Amino acid sequence: MATACFHFHHSLNDFLPRAQRGAPIIYTFERRASIKDAVEALGVPHTEVAALVVDGYAVGFDALLNDDGNIDVYPHEALPQGIAPYMLRLPPPWPPRFVLDAHLGRLARYLRLLGFDSDYRNDFGDAELAEISAREGRILLSRDRSLLKRRIIEHAYFVRADAPMRQLEEVCVRWELFDEIAAFQRCTRCNGILHEVAKESVIDLLEPKTRRYFEHFRQCDRCAQVYWQGSHFERMQRWINDLKARRSG
Ligand SMILES: [Zn+2]
Repeated sequence: MATACFHFHHSLNDFLPRAQRGAPIIYTFERRASIKDAVEALGVPHTEVAALVVDGYAVGFDALLNDDGNIDVYPHEALPQGIAPYMLRLPPPWPPRFVLDAHLGRLARYLRLLGFDSDYRNDFGDAELAEISAREGRILLSRDRSLLKRRIIEHAYFVRADAPMRQLEEVCVRWELFDEIAAFQRCTRCNGILHEVAKESVIDLLEPKTRRYFEHFRQCDRCAQVYWQGSHFERMQRWINDLKARRSG
């Protein structure tokens, strides 16, 4: 029976049982297993791992475990210093595009509000989500770690927070989205692109008060939803400014 010692760094501890967090984990294996399989057996999806270091050398996911090996596993935000890097995956296409699992509907709307192409349907199955992410180079956002362990997924993020606003902030920090924000350009309902329209062309769709008080309108090119800069626009604008102001935190 062989053993290897794993050290999970920083946010990767979120995936470990409380008693194992921040401490070395002795992993027992009977046959030659890949490091990736061991990492996932211990509960950490491969998509959360940004660097693997074995006995001081950076390695790839397919490296095999060796007896008495010391394995350091690092997340995106805390890469090892002073070690020649080994790139586990290429960066995602930029600007980033997303696909979200069924539990993240409000996060999808908020990402669209900030202008990010975010594919979401509440009936996408796990296999379909993984397939869309891989095929279209979309970053998969999910709170289901077994989904994130699927092999074909390259780019993903496990969303920690419960509240949608906190989730949005988390995603903005993880993917460094702050400079890419182009708010009010995309339909929050269907992910379509908004374009400016003359008031006359949408006037039949407006409530009397909206008709009276607003002059500038945008319409979704996909679902025809009409948008205008009402009171909720100002509230969202303030909220986006707050979000940007908190970026360093
Ligand atoms: Zn739409």
